[in-house]
Formats: sequence, structure tokens, C-alpha cells
Amino acid sequence: MAKILVCVAWPYASGPRHLGHAVSTFIPADIFARYHRMKRDEVLMVGGSDMHGTPVTVRADEEGVPPNVIAERYHALHLKNIEQLGVRYDLYWNTADPHHKAWVQEIFLALKEKGHVYEAVMVSPFCTTDQRFLPDRYVEGTCPHCGFPRARGDQCENCGNLLDPFELKDPKCKIHGTTPIPKETKHFFFRLSAFETPLTKWAAKDKEHWRHHVLTFMRSWLREGLKDRPITRDLDWGIEVPVPGYETKRIYVWFEAVMGYLTATREWYRRRNQPDGWKDFWHDPEARHYYFVGKDNIVFHTIIWPAILLGYDAKLDLPYDVTATQYLNFSGEKMSAGRGKGVWLSDLLERFDPDQLRYYGVATMPETKDTDFEWEDFAQRNNSELLAVYGNFVHRAMTFADKNFDHAVPPADFLDAADKKMIRAIEQEWNKVGQNLEYVHLKDAMKEAIQLARLGNQYFDQKAPWELVKKDRVACGTVLHVALRVSRSLAIIMAPFLPFSSSRLWQALGYDTDVHSQTWEGALEDVPAGQALRVGKPLFTKIDLSEAKETSADRLDLRVAQIADVQELPNADNLYVLQVDIGGERRQIVAGIRKNYPKDQLRGRKIVVLVNLEPAKLRGIESRGMLLAGEDKADVGLVRPPDAAPAGSQVLGVRGAPILAFSEFQKYKLQVGPDGTVLFLSPEGEARTTLAVDGTPLKVDKGMKEGTWVH
Ligand SMILES: [Zn+2]
Ligand SMILES: [Zn+2]
Repeated sequence: MAKILVCVAWPYASGPRHLGHAVSTFIPADIFARYHRMKRDEVLMVGGSDMHGTPVTVRADEEGVPPNVIAERYHALHLKNIEQLGVRYDLYWNTADPHHKAWVQEIFLALKEKGHVYEAVMVSPFCTTDQRFLPDRYVEGTCPHCGFPRARGDQCENCGNLLDPFELKDPKCKIHGTTPIPKETKHFFFRLSAFETPLTKWAAKDKEHWRHHVLTFMRSWLREGLKDRPITRDLDWGIEVPVPGYETKRIYVWFEAVMGYLTATREWYRRRNQPDGWKDFWHDPEARHYYFVGKDNIVFHTIIWPAILLGYDAKLDLPYDVTATQYLNFSGEKMSAGRGKGVWLSDLLERFDPDQLRYYGVATMPETKDTDFEWEDFAQRNNSELLAVYGNFVHRAMTFADKNFDHAVPPADFLDAADKKMIRAIEQEWNKVGQNLEYVHLKDAMKEAIQLARLGNQYFDQKAPWELVKKDRVACGTVLHVALRVSRSLAIIMAPFLPFSSSRLWQALGYDTDVHSQTWEGALEDVPAGQALRVGKPLFTKIDLSEAKETSADRLDLRVAQIADVQELPNADNLYVLQVDIGGERRQIVAGIRKNYPKDQLRGRKIVVLVNLEPAKLRGIESRGMLLAGEDKADVGLVRPPDAAPAGSQVLGVRGAPILAFSEFQKYKLQVGPDGTVLFLSPEGEARTTLAVDGTPLKVDKGMKEGTWVH
């Protein structure tokens, strides 16, 4: 029994996550952990939300709320998405937890004690506009390594290189767009240079199973030589530096988040009253630690984190494998939560079976090179592989047996050569799936699992039970028995990849147990003759491409809002300043509807507002959102949500979608249908969605004929 620690990269709690993130971290980690649990290895899967760092504060500044509001909101969303996706952590934690903070400070002080952390004065970018230092994401510029124009002050997300802000070409303050000046400030540094030799030795040893691109990246870093790095920041959000004089500074988010793998293990054992239990996983040289991260995190997991481990306690286990993936791109550009690109998980999970997403995620998994998310490909792979090959095979076998053999598994009295060949194929494919899983080649592993279903279909077609049932009922029963045995094996073999449909299939085959508590070897067992089947709906549904594409709305956050107050804007004859409640939050919106509605018709009224539009100033007054309305040549009529819909109800898009630039927003159009409903048109113009709240379509006041957005 092997001891396997599954370490999953910590997503920032700074915004909704996109599918690319799940595909590079949660999903592969989950498949790997589920497989090893079925093998009865000792598995612990840990991770959580990264609550700190400038991604969170940048967002908080944009929304005008404290950082903890942002972090807690998105931690809750990540938790929900993870559960919806069927990802089973042993502990999904977060870095704002007091235990994490205390342990991080303990590690920090231990490193300082040993001389691995020291104080030094450095030059940092300083914004003269608001008199503050600009940590990490508050500076943007051109990457000196790859020329990416929007590289951040700490790292280029395009090439993954770590940066000093002044290495950027043409650095700019992210908020003011001005050039920051260099200014001296005192910080703690991690003596990374001291670990060059031990890390180089480690990098040269027993890495045959590592992915080529990860090794190349790590080794080229080591060849260039390791530099000491500042590990505190001028920031008030994060873990306090446990040293007097550092009250206005915090520990760098990356320095503490990687410690989360260790602290989360400690936490898991602490909750079980075994305060030293974590050593089982971290002090055992035989334990294998697998890290599931995206390629922009390679340096943290192959250089910085191993160096921290070496410096803190020489007995700690270093990573056994860092299975970094490349990027899953959307329309050729990297899916990035920071830049508002991507196919949001929350949106996808509301519209598709999680197994459809997991299937596509694994089938296009960017294990060794970047891949693309394509709607056509998503629909096609679901329809022609998952549904047509796997779903169809098991459904055919079950419905045929159900109809012709008294709703139960028929006996197999005599196996001919073809039957035996089919049964041998189960073991052969099972072997191939397992071998690929051992090496974390998930895409190939799933391909072999689908291959078993494909062989099942071929066997079924070749035996043609629909003919056989008329000539030789006993032989036909044998065919069905074998086909159901293959289905049973598929339920187990697919369980790590597609947990929900495996459960459904297992139940349909007549089992009352949980497929996820079966052993991996259990896939080779036979299905008992006479077991009653519970045939229901097919395992998967077809994805209609035109429906799938509607999701380009996922960049919007369109909600029901209630008008709390209306004021005229002096010297602007058509403008009102509205205070609206968008569900637990007040917003100020400036809207040009004074000629169309008197004040008393607006107070208390419910309207629909696009809430994630970039703020604009109208006559010097800030407006943070836009109304939906209909218009004709003479008048404007507001879009009317159902009376019962509370403020904050989602009309379209994703709650918390990132700020949308005005130029991007202009690509979206509204239209009023002949029946008075309001239609939303995607930028491509192909997808049309009827706007509705909980199934009730929205209508336009005063029977207007054209849709519009009103500032
Ligand atoms: Zn770069
Ligand atoms: Zn500035």
C-alpha cells in the first residue's frame, strides 16, 4: 500500500474560476486520487483557496469593498464549483484560517533563525499619485523574456518567468497608468541562492517520470543561477510578518500559499486529534507527493517550495512529481480569471452534466502542449464519443436485456471464442488504463477506457442479439451477459474520470452499493446472473451546439435591481442619479431617462442592470452599471422583471464576472421579440437567449419595439 499525498494548486479567491483552471488542477488531481483510493492506497488530497495577494485587493479596489468580502465570496464559490464537479478533497481549506497563519509564521521564523531569511533594503516601484508602493499586480509592463505586453510586477503569466517590477519594459501603475518611480524600502529576503547546489542535485536524480516540459523549465532555471527573492510586500492584506517594525507589510502570497500543502496536512490531522499525524505523510521517504498545477506555477513548485522545505526541515519530503499542465486556451488566448477571459465554471456547471465537462476536460487536457476549448469540439466529443460510444453501448445492452430477459441479467451458459475474447479485452484495457494512470497520463488512460466501450459495441454488433434472440435464446442470453459484464467493468474503470455517470450506471445494473467504494481490481469481476436491472434514462444527453454557444453571455453579470433613491442631476436635463440595490450591495447609476419617467414612478421599482460594466463618469458623476430598456423613436420603456423576483436575482451571465470594458460590452446587443420578450444577442450574433428570471421571461414597459442599454 503506497502513501500518496495529492497536492492541488490553490486558486485565488479573487474571481470565478474558468474551466481551464479546473482542467489543470482539480480534475486531474481528483481522477488520480480516486484511482489510488480504489487501489486501497493511503491517499490524502489537500488544497484550498488562496485568500491573499494582490489579485484579491485589485478586485476589492475595483468593487470598493474590503478584501475579505471578495476572498470569502469567491472561496464559497470555489467550494460550490468543486462540489458540483464531483471533486473530492479530503480537505479543501483556505489560507485565511488562523492555523495556517500561525504555522506560516512559525516556518518563517524558523527559516529566519537558520539564516535562510534576512532583511535588506531594496528598490520598489512607488506611485507618486497616491503615495504608495506598488506590489506585484499593481504594476504592469512588457515582459523582458517573451515580450508579452501585460506582464505583472511579480510574474509574466505568458511565459511563467518570475520578474522584478523594474525588469518590465515600460512599467505602469495599474490604477493610474503613470510610470512609478523607484524608491527604497526594507523587506525580508529568502536566501534562494543557498539552495542552488542541493536543488541541482535533486533535479538530476530520479526524474524519469516527470513531464519533459516541467523538467526543462526547472533545469533551465537552475542553470541560470538562483537569486535571493523578497518575500514580504508593502501591503495590508495577507499574513502579518511576525517581526516588529513590519506592521505595514505582509508575507508574499506565493511564499505562504505553497506552505498550504504542509499546513493543510497538519490541519487534517489536527481535526482528528493527531497533532503529529502529518509526519506520516511528510517524514516518510516512501510517501509520494504529487502536485497538480498549471504551468505558470512550475517555478514555485519545483524551485521555491522545495527550497523552503529543505531550509525548514531536512526530513521533509520533496515533490515526487509536479504534473504541471499547459494552458487550455479559449479562442487562442489563455483563459485567465484576471483578464475576464474564459468559460466560467459556474456557468458551465449550471448548464451541463459535470461528467460532460470532466470528459471534455480530460479529452483535451493540455498535458504537454496548449490546447483549445472549442464549442464545436465540446459538443462533438460529447455526442460522438461519450454518448455514442460509451453511453450508447451500455444503454443498448441494458435495454435489450431488460426487454427480452425479464428485467434481469441472463446467465452465460456457454462462452464461445468471441465471448472469451471480449472478456479478455476487459482485462487488457483495464491494465492499460491503470498503467497510464500510474504515470498521470490521464488523457491516454481515458482513451483506453473508451476503447473498451468501443470494443463492446463491436462485439454487440457482431453478435447481433436482435437476430440471435429469434434463433437461439440461450446464446443470446450469453451475449447480453457478457455485454453487461463489460458495462459493469466500465462503471468501475470510468469511476475516477466520470464519477456521476458511473454511479448512475452502477445503480442501473442493479447494485445497491456505491461504485466509488469498489476496488480497482473489482472491475474484473463478473456480473451475477439473475440480478435485477433498473434501466432508466440513457447515461448522457446530446449537446445541441447552438444552445452550447449561448454561453458567450458568461462574461456578463446581469441582475434584477431595485431603485432605492432617485435624484435629478443638476445641469443635465435628461439624467437621473439612481441608487440601486443589486442584492446585498448598493450601486450608483447615472441614467438618461428623465424625459421618460417621473421620479415617483421609479422609486422602489425593479429594473435590470448590467453590474460588471467598467465604471464611467457622466457629467463628473460616477456610474457603475447600465439599465436595460426598450425604445422607439419617441420614448424609452424599462425592461420589467417579474414582481416577485428579489433584487440580486440573476437574469443572465455569471454572478461576479470580472469588470467588462466598454468596448467589449458594445458587442452585445438586445432585441425585442415579436411577443414582447427581450432577447440577448451574443457578439457572434449566432446565439440568442430570452432573458428570464426563474423561467419567467422579461417584458418591456410601454410595448417598445427595440432593445437598448441606457446609461
Ligand atoms: Zn513573459
Ligand atoms: Zn498609481
